[in-house]
Parts: sequence; structure tokens; C-alpha cells
Amino acid sequence: MNPGQFRWLVSQIRCSNCGQPLEASNVQLLGQQADLWFLNVFCGGCQTQALVAAMVRETAKVAEEHMAKEEPLTPDNGLDLHNFLKTFDGDFRTLFAQQDRRQRP
Ligand SMILES: [Zn+2]
Repeated sequence: MNPGQFRWLVSQIRCSNCGQPLEASNVQLLGQQADLWFLNVFCGGCQTQALVAAMVRETAKVAEEHMAKEEPLTPDNGLDLHNFLKTFDGDFRTLFAQQDRRQRP
């Protein structure tokens, strides 16, 4: 993810508690699993911390299209995300360790 994509992604996220937009400085990238990015976010408005999983296609063009239409993140992949989260046990360490092993054959 390049800085422009990161800024775009942050701009798409609202605090789930109070609905305020988040500041990039309050969003920490935890890691990536394919097109799925995991973020640790902190809302300066209500002091709520949360984990966010977001589907991001690795092309700026897609990001711009979504921006233009003001659509949420890749809604066509919402089901994939749902299925992933249904089986995901919250163990990021194992998740990213698996990915590291795949990237280093
Ligand atoms: Zn908030």
C-alpha cells in the first residue's frame, strides 16, 4: 500500500462508536493478508480503540473509482471478508507468520 492508498483508506473509515472520521496519525497498519489489511485505529473524538479489517485492491485506479462513487471498500468482496472474519480467531501473529512462510518458499 502506498501513502496515497493509505490516506484514501483512512478517509473511508469512520469511528464505529461515534462516527467521526479518523486521523491518519491515529491509524496503525498491523499487517496484510492478501487484499485484506488489518488496522489498529484510535478515535481522538471518543478515545475508542478498534481493530479494522479492510479489503484493498492494490491499484490506485480502483481506489479512485471507489472514491468517485463514494462507495464503501470493495463491497463485492464483502462476503469474502465476512467469511474470513467468521473463521478468524483473532490470532494476528499466526496469520502473518503463515503469510511470511508463503512469501519465502
Ligand atoms: Zn469515536
